[in-house]
Amino acid sequence: MIKRDYYHLLGIDPSASLEEIKKAYRRLAHQYHPDKNPDNPSAGDHFRLITEAYEILQDTRKRAAYDRQGPSMGRWGFEGFGEPPDFSPQKDFVDGIFEEILEDFFRADRPRQRRARGTDLRFNLEISLEEAAWGSEQKIRFSRKSICPVCRGSRCAPGTQTTVCPYCEGTGSLRTQRGFFIVETTCERCKGEGEYIPRPCPRCGGAGVLKIPQVFKISTPPGADNGTRLRLAGEGEMGRNGGSAGDLYVILSIRRHPVFTRSGNDLTCEILVELSLAFKGTEVEAPTLKDPVRIKIPPKTPPGKIFILKGMGMPALQGRGRGDLKVQIRVEAPSRPGKKEREMMEELSRQGRKGKMGPEEASFPRSAN
Ligand SMILES: [Zn+2]
Ligand SMILES: [Zn+2]
Repeated sequence: MIKRDYYHLLGIDPSASLEEIKKAYRRLAHQYHPDKNPDNPSAGDHFRLITEAYEILQDTRKRAAYDRQGPSMGRWGFEGFGEPPDFSPQKDFVDGIFEEILEDFFRADRPRQRRARGTDLRFNLEISLEEAAWGSEQKIRFSRKSICPVCRGSRCAPGTQTTVCPYCEGTGSLRTQRGFFIVETTCERCKGEGEYIPRPCPRCGGAGVLKIPQVFKISTPPGADNGTRLRLAGEGEMGRNGGSAGDLYVILSIRRHPVFTRSGNDLTCEILVELSLAFKGTEVEAPTLKDPVRIKIPPKTPPGKIFILKGMGMPALQGRGRGDLKVQIRVEAPSRPGKKEREMMEELSRQGRKGKMGPEEASFPRSAN
């Protein structure tokens, strides 16, 4: 008669604490789990025995009874293996420790179960020059992979759950003997995941995730330029298996402006002045990012002359001060100039050659309206 000593099976002392019992069982279950020992059929039998031992010893009442009776009780015969009941992992098996062990297996064996940070997302947003200058509030819309709201990521239809793949018995792979070789192939039924979904979630089709439209309100900073990057931490794709989410990057680009061209923080625009007025001198209205301002055009202003409006350009991004606004004069010549007009044009280009072309700070008319 073979007596089975549960304490001995688990390699522990009869005075072992519950913690020690759990620890011993975890260690042995790892060692003898059939998934880990596909080539050793007796490992499964041993696994059943240590599991039985654990089931009894972790239960205070059963353990006390066992301690009183000694190794003569059990679910199946102590006198040999008898007919061991079919062992199939059950979800509610002994206070979750079995689930923990299975999880450990998945972690160790399946790369797909590894924790992974979510992908960063990029969103290109075009804004106007005015919005770039003053800062703006924008709404962006995009779709992002998110946990399915119906199955909450379980991939199963509500009220159902995954089962161990009956094809590969949860290993994710199938072994077949070909002559001397053992060929291992990925289980086609579960695609190597070891889990089987009897009824996939109708909303996500069993993916557990789906693209869900998102709307974000963001503010763009004053002074933003082409390529300015805004980072929204944690708003990218979700991570896998508890990994953190990626980030969302909003990349700004500035729409072409009908009046201003930008170079760094400076802006340039052109003003057309009639020939006779450029010759005599006049006042013109120069556009700015806000209200237009009147500036003086002194007599004999050559075409191409630049007047600078200090501090009326773009604000510096994350800095102090602002760039300048450069107003370049274009002289409008008549298509068929007479003698007088031709003389004026010659005089203006002479002025230009004499070095009067250089940029100059704009002056404003004395009387403010
Ligand atoms: Zn779903
Ligand atoms: Zn399978």
